[in-house]
Amino acid sequence: MRFIQKDNLIIPSKTKEDSLPIAQILMIPNPPLTPSFTYNPELQQRLTGKQLLLDDLPFPLPDIQEHYQHGYLTYRKGIEKNGKQSSCVRCGNKDPQWFGAYPCARCGENCLYCRKCLMMGRISECTPLIGWSGPAPEIQNPAQIMAWQGTLSEGQKVASDHVVEAIRQNQEHLVWAVCGAGKTEVLFAGIESALAAKKRICIATPRTDVVLELSPRLKAAFPDIPIASLYGGSEDRHLFAPLTIATTHQLLRFYHAFDAIILDEVDAFPYTVEESLQYAAVQARKPASAMIYLTATPNSNWQRECRTGTRAYTTIPARFHRKPLPVPEFNWCGNWQKQLKKGNLPANVIRWIKTRIQADKQILVFFPHIPLMEKALSILQQIHPEIEAVHAEDPDRKSKVQKMRNKEIPMLLTTTILERGVTFPNIDVAVVGAEDTIFTESALVQIAGRAGRSKDHPTGNVTFFHYGKTEDMLKARRQIVTMNLEGLKKGLLDKQEAAK
Ligand SMILES: [Zn+2]
Ligand SMILES: [Zn+2]
Repeated sequence: MRFIQKDNLIIPSKTKEDSLPIAQILMIPNPPLTPSFTYNPELQQRLTGKQLLLDDLPFPLPDIQEHYQHGYLTYRKGIEKNGKQSSCVRCGNKDPQWFGAYPCARCGENCLYCRKCLMMGRISECTPLIGWSGPAPEIQNPAQIMAWQGTLSEGQKVASDHVVEAIRQNQEHLVWAVCGAGKTEVLFAGIESALAAKKRICIATPRTDVVLELSPRLKAAFPDIPIASLYGGSEDRHLFAPLTIATTHQLLRFYHAFDAIILDEVDAFPYTVEESLQYAAVQARKPASAMIYLTATPNSNWQRECRTGTRAYTTIPARFHRKPLPVPEFNWCGNWQKQLKKGNLPANVIRWIKTRIQADKQILVFFPHIPLMEKALSILQQIHPEIEAVHAEDPDRKSKVQKMRNKEIPMLLTTTILERGVTFPNIDVAVVGAEDTIFTESALVQIAGRAGRSKDHPTGNVTFFHYGKTEDMLKARRQIVTMNLEGLKKGLLDKQEAAK
């Protein structure tokens, strides 16, 4: 879009005369609020805390412009130009390789656009990001905010209190909770007190699966609070809600929206690799707001910051059921890839698997790469025809995981896609080729964390078969042992179990 600058306003223009694409306007004026203006409440609902494109809004441009002129709506540049450098205001991209140019019908120029966040609608030099600067919608709280009546373990309670405090004080806080500690419940008190204070709160996670899993749990815990669940293709996109659960991608549509953001699984793909998502999380926060990070496996930088006292954090070192985390055993298995290519699996791997199949114990076995896993599958199906394998692009992924849950199959081979999120009640876990670089410290801790999760089956064997120990394997084991020791010291583990 092109705008004309006039009377301390910018006005959309269809002609090139005296007008500029928005990126070239030096300062975009923000007219003062006209209190007597009757704003459109639907526009208010859709725009509060957002940064949207004209295409996202089902309102005619004259309406939008009128709200701008009365101070209820803001235009911001989609692309910021600073000398030769361009940056995308929505996703923070500054890398010239991630910009393209096209002959643009809207501004009639060769228009630069950001390819990095293209899936959320095109941001170009002539794209205004539209936001709301009028009053926020009134939030009416129900008489009872939270219906959840469960109890917290001692470890959860400490973390829960710290979350409440951090949200109240607009601070950053990391909750480092072992796999299976029950981290969702730790958030409830913090969410409740934030909602009671009429704050707007968001739980963001890199994975759609987690949004889908969390939504019903939060709706059950806060039954009378409007909750927006946002992921690619979800229907709640335009819902203004005090509580939002979103994929980190969806945060790109928010601007200064939340008084508190809870970032779940900060270490999980794609958040760590996508700088734009970190940028989005920062943009989505109000300038004064809280940020709570949740993870079972902080990266080594964060671990160091915790140790040296530069990052505020709370650990939950023990699971809800008070049994220690299974400590991985290391088992050398020689050049397993070479053996697989010849149609064999190492003898100790076969033995480990056979013993469990005979004992009717379900197993989850991780492989670093799909082709090797497929090879192993055909060998193992000779032991038991019902064995299955899954990977990220497998169209039957869901049904295979379900079969495993239903105990219809004795064993599932998998790549790292099942390293987190899935819970099978009673399994042993192995990694074949634990030396592969894909198995980072955090991946291995997550994988080991699949075993012994349920209170009826709180133990399980975890074995890393390897062709040479790696630093990551050692660090993963150390992290697990350290958490068990801490759990013991803090009295969060049952004595007889911890003594083993
Ligand atoms: Zn253009
Ligand atoms: Zn972008």
